[in-house]
Amino acid sequence: MTHQGLRLAPANLKLRLASVAAVLVFAATLLVTLSTLSVAERGTKSVIGDQQYTLLSGAASFMDDRLAERLGQVEALAAAIPPPLRTDWAALRAFLADRARLWSPAENLNLVVFDAEGEMRLSLQALPGPTTLNVRGTDYFERAVETRKGVISRPIRSRLTGSHIVVFSAPVLDQAGRVSVVLTGSVDLRRSGFLHQLSTLKPGRTGYLFLMTADGVIIDHPDETRLFQHVGSTPGVNRGTDRALAGFEGWLESRSKDGTDSIYAYKRLRTTGWILAARYPSAEAFAPMDRMRRNAFFSAGGLALAAGLLAWVLVYRLLSPLQDLRDNVVAIRENGAGIEVLRDGRKDEIGELGRAFHALVAERELAENHRAASERRLRMITDNLPVLISYIDREHRFRFGNATYEKWFGITPEQLVGMPVAKLLGTGTEADISPHLEQAFSGQAVTHEVRIPVRGEPRILQATYIPDQQPEGSVAGVYALVHDMTHVKEVEEQLLQLARVDTLTGIANRRMFGETLHHALDRARRSGKPLALAYLDIDHFKKINDTFGHGIGDEVLTEFARRLAAGVRATDTPARLSGDEFVVIFEEIGTRLEAERIAAKIVESMRVPFRTSAGLVQVSTSVGAALSQPRQPQEQLLAAADSALYAAKGKGRNGYAFFEG
Ligand code: GH3
Ligand code: MG
Repeated sequence: MTHQGLRLAPANLKLRLASVAAVLVFAATLLVTLSTLSVAERGTKSVIGDQQYTLLSGAASFMDDRLAERLGQVEALAAAIPPPLRTDWAALRAFLADRARLWSPAENLNLVVFDAEGEMRLSLQALPGPTTLNVRGTDYFERAVETRKGVISRPIRSRLTGSHIVVFSAPVLDQAGRVSVVLTGSVDLRRSGFLHQLSTLKPGRTGYLFLMTADGVIIDHPDETRLFQHVGSTPGVNRGTDRALAGFEGWLESRSKDGTDSIYAYKRLRTTGWILAARYPSAEAFAPMDRMRRNAFFSAGGLALAAGLLAWVLVYRLLSPLQDLRDNVVAIRENGAGIEVLRDGRKDEIGELGRAFHALVAERELAENHRAASERRLRMITDNLPVLISYIDREHRFRFGNATYEKWFGITPEQLVGMPVAKLLGTGTEADISPHLEQAFSGQAVTHEVRIPVRGEPRILQATYIPDQQPEGSVAGVYALVHDMTHVKEVEEQLLQLARVDTLTGIANRRMFGETLHHALDRARRSGKPLALAYLDIDHFKKINDTFGHGIGDEVLTEFARRLAAGVRATDTPARLSGDEFVVIFEEIGTRLEAERIAAKIVESMRVPFRTSAGLVQVSTSVGAALSQPRQPQEQLLAAADSALYAAKGKGRNGYAFFEG
């Protein structure tokens, strides 16, 4: 990745931090704005709701006053009727007309008088409809008669005018306290301006007031088709109105039947129990708040963006020394730049980081140099030792090898690293040494011998494996040290050979004779064929020594041994026991005769004078022969032959004798 590429990459820490700071500042600003707005909205809503309810309560109280006033007027008029006029309908009409003149025409209060039987007796205004009417059974008549008090009726359709009216009725009592007549004043709800005044109190531009009876019959509503209908007669549910019918007073936010959210306020009239309600569509009620919210959103968004941008720029600038430090480290690592650039003079943490890094790298360089020097020394030593030194891992692969591998096998130390043991030495050899290696991997030091061809020559090698034990006890690998033992082995063989050969004559010595006789007796026992042992001693050898000197004596001994060896079969073993004493083991000799013939042949072979550096020397020998007996000890057979020799000497020498058991 290039330097420039990294600067622009999204993975760049500086960019990330700057972006995170910018996003956090942006988000925080927005969050604060939103939560403030939400609190303000809740506050505004409750202010608007409370305002609506207060307004409505005022209107309700106004209506209560108007209703009470009307009823009071009718009651006062009823009480003022002089007793003589109570049955004089013409006089009563004149009286009422006179009084009604005082009222404003806007009141539009028609006065009607009923007798105690409910029969209409007079109507102040001319009636377009029927002229007779009985109101027995109506709520306003019966209650007025019963309670003897003024009564306000429910909204009803007038049987006289056909219009919707509310009736205020007041009983007129005679001296005895009986109801003589009932005076009623009716108000045409639509015409009287009674409700009209309410419309001036409607909330906002699209809001309105409506009035309904305690059981839900709409008395006033901007939608005239709903007048005198029950609220439930149009489809849909308004939760607020349902609650108001159940007794709720106050304000709430609810969804109206046409699906728009509105603030509804409900208040019951004290005088009639009617419910005065106000509806204020939320869209209009909260329009200023929505505007405020939009404005706040835009300004907060702008502010947040600016703050975020500022945070981004600041963090980006603050972190640029870190970027420089990183560039320097990359330059050191990839382009081999000097580490001095890390020793920044800055006083802050980034400066400290640079200096600490510089110190760390300098220490590591020093340690690395020490390590490399020590490794060079070690390699120099191992490479110049005439032994194989290597490290083998658990997969039987070389991890290290000294230069001797190159000298012996032509594999450089570099080529050796990772090479399986089987590849270098062949699978056969690997199979041979594998058990020893495994023993070393189990934690034991092992030494074994192995025969391997080196540069085409068979060699005997001694390998020693030292386990590389880890602190926790496992064995990670094995150090292998391999010597060439071939020469030592050869010398050993020679020494062994020398120890069994007579140095003067080159034939077997007493030691080898002992071993050979032992094996020969074993074979004789197994085959059942006895062996013959000939014991020889040169006659008057002392005299030869004395006459010609010890050197000539040695020449005689050497020639004696040569003739002895030349005269016997390859399977027979001649040996010199000591001085001028010799023995020959003849295997598979069946009879005494055969043994005697051999003894005679030996005596005969020495008769020809010996050629020495002192001239010809006459030599003779005496021979004692014996045949082995089954299960006869070795010493006994030798003693038998010796005793036969003694007999041969006794017989005058230069001859043989056979052991007579
Ligand atoms: P005899 O017929 O009874 O055997 O008489 P002899 O003179 O041979 O007597 P003997 O066998 O007892 O003597 C052996 C001599 O061999 C004695 C010793 O000096 C001599 N001798 C022993 N070892 C060596 C040797 O290695 N070289 C030489 N030149 N002489 C040896
Ligand atoms: Mg002798």
